[in-house]
Amino acid sequence: MQKEIDMLDVQKIRKDFPILNRQVNGKPLVYFDNAATSQTPKVVIDAIVDYYSNYNANIHRGVHTLSQEATDAYEIARNKVQQHFNAMHSYEIILTSGTTHSINIVATGFTNLLSEGDEIIVSALEHHSNIVPWQMLCERTGAILKVIPMNEEGELLMDVYDQLLSDKTKLVFTNHISNALGTINPIEEIITKAHKVGAAVLIDGAQSCPHIKPDVQALDVDFYVASAHKLCGPTGVGMLYGKEEWLNKLPPYQGGGEMIEQVTFEKTTYAGLPHKFEAGTPNICGGIAFGAALDYMNSIGFDNIAQYENELLAYGTQKLLEIEGLRIYGTSKNKTSVISFNLEGIHPYDVGTIVDKLGIAVRTGHHCAQPIMDFYKIPGTIRASFSFYNTKEEIDALVEAVKKAKMMLS
Ligand SMILES: *Cc1c(COP(=O)(O)O)cnc(C)c1O
Repeated sequence: MQKEIDMLDVQKIRKDFPILNRQVNGKPLVYFDNAATSQTPKVVIDAIVDYYSNYNANIHRGVHTLSQEATDAYEIARNKVQQHFNAMHSYEIILTSGTTHSINIVATGFTNLLSEGDEIIVSALEHHSNIVPWQMLCERTGAILKVIPMNEEGELLMDVYDQLLSDKTKLVFTNHISNALGTINPIEEIITKAHKVGAAVLIDGAQSCPHIKPDVQALDVDFYVASAHKLCGPTGVGMLYGKEEWLNKLPPYQGGGEMIEQVTFEKTTYAGLPHKFEAGTPNICGGIAFGAALDYMNSIGFDNIAQYENELLAYGTQKLLEIEGLRIYGTSKNKTSVISFNLEGIHPYDVGTIVDKLGIAVRTGHHCAQPIMDFYKIPGTIRASFSFYNTKEEIDALVEAVKKAKMMLS
């Protein structure tokens, strides 16, 4: 067991992250809010500094050297995203401002493709950003939103999914991994069954991409979306993968520069993929840094990451459960390194505040997933989410801090 951990040299990895040296309230920072945003390695920070220091320019427009260098770097980054997700074509990768933006492009794009009475299916485990844009789509079109329910363990009830599917189903959308509970959803089965009734599928990969390397062709998924800031990249940039035929079918989301072929006051024709969905000056630096982040994660290796994080999950689960009155929400066998928990009779916010005084960053609240909290009839949870740069010693510090909070609050 010790040997497996050695495959990923966590002490060496920690040196890549400048922020992990800092103190919070006089204690070494323990960063366990990775499901909200990940920390940034020096290579990614360097890519950002390099861009603004050496070749900051607008892309796709200028003939001058800086503009060409910036354009090349941006398009290389797109190719890195394409390779990482194994998309067939680089123009099937739209660079967006993040998962939320990507979902809105698709949800808005379906407005003219749905009719009253059509059905679209969501899972009970969703982040608000994979619920609200679809509710807005239903308001515009008269389509009906159906929900795949979940059980106490935080797993989807797949037999109910079977019953929900019909020839009325036009779209199915679910996350790959739940940000609130860590459940890994059976997306292969969800996709195959949706396709049998002719429905398209969007997978929200915001929470899976930090842990898993998805293969969009093997999955045969229609749309896959993610944010760079959850996988060691900067905020404000993300991706939308769409199968070429779907991206051609959807209208542009925004009008503006970059997304046109020709503009007159009588009529405008749109540019081809991917530019049709990339109106205006994009987050050029962010896109380039996104590519650097993927390089960094791949240099560590997703198999190593998953194996190490699973050990942290097992260790953290066992240690936390030794605290009397502590309940973990989301107990699927198929889950990633997220532990959502509460102390009996104590508000999660109070625990989070005390734990922060001890230098430990956890998330408290509903985690943008209020329906899950309603299911458990709780206001929220304390969520500790582990990354490959965390250690067992940090988990020990969390356990001690939670014990202390419990003593002070009960
Ligand atoms: C974080 C997250 C989102 C939203 O991502 P943004 O970067 O805020 O757009 C959506 N879905 C899941 C599962 C997430 O974890």
